[in-house]
Amino acid sequence: AAKHAGKNRFAFFDPVMTERARETLNLRYELGQAIAADQLFLDYQPRIDLKSGRICGLEALVRWQHPERGVLSPGEFLPLAERSDLICRIGHWVLQQCAREMAGVVARSPDLRMAVNLSTRDLYEVQHIETLVRTIQSGYGDSGIALELEITESMLMENIHQATEVLKTIKQALPGVQIAIDDFGSGYSSLNYLRHLPIDTLKIDQAFIADLADDSGNAKSIVRSVIDLARNLNLRVVAEGIETEEQLHIVSQLGCEEAQGFYFSRPVSSSALGTLDGFP
Ligand code: C2E
Ligand code: MG
Ligand code: MG
Ligand code: MG
Repeated sequence: AAKHAGKNRFAFFDPVMTERARETLNLRYELGQAIAADQLFLDYQPRIDLKSGRICGLEALVRWQHPERGVLSPGEFLPLAERSDLICRIGHWVLQQCAREMAGVVARSPDLRMAVNLSTRDLYEVQHIETLVRTIQSGYGDSGIALELEITESMLMENIHQATEVLKTIKQALPGVQIAIDDFGSGYSSLNYLRHLPIDTLKIDQAFIADLADDSGNAKSIVRSVIDLARNLNLRVVAEGIETEEQLHIVSQLGCEEAQGFYFSRPVSSSALGTLDGFP
């Protein structure tokens, strides 16, 4: 058996594999240095209240200014981080950085809701919850920032029972913090679980918004159902990924309250927020 294992280990040194594996390892190593090297930064995308047309919230989105590769989006590096403790360090940094940058903004516009995305680890690593709660207490406790934590539906569905418990713990420890389900509608969730979750907001998956205009795959029916569901459960509902006036028109007609997307604004740096239309 030992001989076998030895043989299999040699398979690892296939030159193509090695090249890719080395690149991944490299990137992960560099990501480990990125926080200390000040290479991570946050952009903020506004969320619009559709009745008033005003900006009612912001979502923090992490980016990595890589020294050779340019700006990397979260999809290009968070999966790497998720395989190690790095994701917790990044999550911690995001919360702290957001609190630092938003302190001044929120002092002027106290009604803004500030959304931050959580990772799977935040939900499922028991030792991590305490750290998360402490980070939020120290960064947001006296700041007046109305924090909303976003959790994707697929993250929730990995273990809905544990997720429910964790969210209840978070809500109990941090009563002012709101919880949103991100990318909602594409999971295979039984609607029954929603009643038991301590949530405040549903964010409709942007895939449905993209299909709204030509109504492929019954996108409009699904969006209508999510909006009705949110209303019946007394939840706020946000349409994500609005790119066109037509999409905006449809979600408004269906009774959606809030929206986010390139049509209003791409994610921008904190210093550019003041120049946006509808910024309070
Ligand atoms: P998300 O939370 O659903 O964020 C929305 C994503 O859609 C963002 O991509 C945003 O730039 C993009 N987007 C916004 N409006 C439009 C639009 O009109 N059209 C299109 N095509 N896209 C739009 P981004 O910044 O690349 O983030 C991707 C995902 O990475 C996020 O999806 C979120 O799940 C995750 N993420 C981002 N920042 C963080 C973070 O700080 N922590 C964690 N754990 N995850 C993060
Ligand atoms: Mg989000
Ligand atoms: Mg989002
Ligand atoms: Mg989303």
